[in-house]
Amino acid sequence: MPAPETKSAPRPKLNREWHLAHRMPKNPSYEQRLEWHAAHAANCACREMPETLRVELVRRGLMGTGLP
Ligand SMILES: [Zn+2]
Repeated sequence: MPAPETKSAPRPKLNREWHLAHRMPKNPSYEQRLEWHAAHAANCACREMPETLRVELVRRGLMGTGLP
């Protein structure tokens, strides 16, 4: 039987401090979007990364495949 989850400290989906410190440029280039989303995925879970960017990051080895 698994141990019951503690619900006292739910992890917030939105990492507000990270977003305040990492604003997306107004007209981001493809490279800037890649960098932003790579950093975002590692620090915040408020939104899914676009599939095309995720594939590109994995291809470059900048992001894991989600597998251990
Ligand atoms: Zn976020």
